[in-house]
Amino acid sequence: MPDFEPVKTLRISENISTQLKNAILKGDFKPGQKLPSERQLTEAFQASRVVVREALRTLELSGFVRIRQGPRGGAYVQRLGYERLTEYYTDLFLSGALSVGELVEARVHLEPEIARLAAQNLTPEAAARLKQALSREQIPAMKHADWVHRNMATDYVLMEICGNRLFQAMLDPLLRLTQEIILVVKPRRTVIHDPHEHEAIVDAVLAGDGRRAARAMRDHIENVGRSLTGLEKAYRRQKGLG
Ligand SMILES: [Zn+2]
Repeated sequence: MPDFEPVKTLRISENISTQLKNAILKGDFKPGQKLPSERQLTEAFQASRVVVREALRTLELSGFVRIRQGPRGGAYVQRLGYERLTEYYTDLFLSGALSVGELVEARVHLEPEIARLAAQNLTPEAAARLKQALSREQIPAMKHADWVHRNMATDYVLMEICGNRLFQAMLDPLLRLTQEIILVVKPRRTVIHDPHEHEAIVDAVLAGDGRRAARAMRDHIENVGRSLTGLEKAYRRQKGLG
């Protein structure tokens, strides 16, 4: 008997998830659209329901679909975002393979450039979004989480309007990790940054002054960084890891 390789269920399910993923990447199924039902997929792939389910679970873990239960349930195609990157960065951070110091250092280099690009590529729509984000920071927030989200909105808008999606992919997980640390530790409001720091950045961006925007951003991240570094121990403790 030749040395045959046993076919594992996992391999069949991997093959199915790869075919489904390719169909999504090609645009056969668009974001928001539902994939064929488990029964239809079972027939199409000539595979068992267990294997099809495993394949859909793999697609869900990699962010391509979201599986909903209930009468209108099924596997719905998701637009790919940066969530997986954020999860990965957070795990690296929790395992001790990344530190707050390194997070801050990366932000100090990345965000001034993003502010400079935002000033350079400013459109009327982007200017309006930026003004709105800044003005919302002034509204008093009752809940700590609301305050954190509003307070970081300016950083997110600048990232989204800078016009470089790779910079966005690099910064988005860093901002979310920063947000996670603040949400868990809940420092006093004044600890993170002076509210006027965002004002200085937005002023410069709106004036189209890239150099001034970059400088203001650098000062801001250096300040944020000092506070954030002090939260690392508390964060690890609260997560039961310190
Ligand atoms: Zn900020």
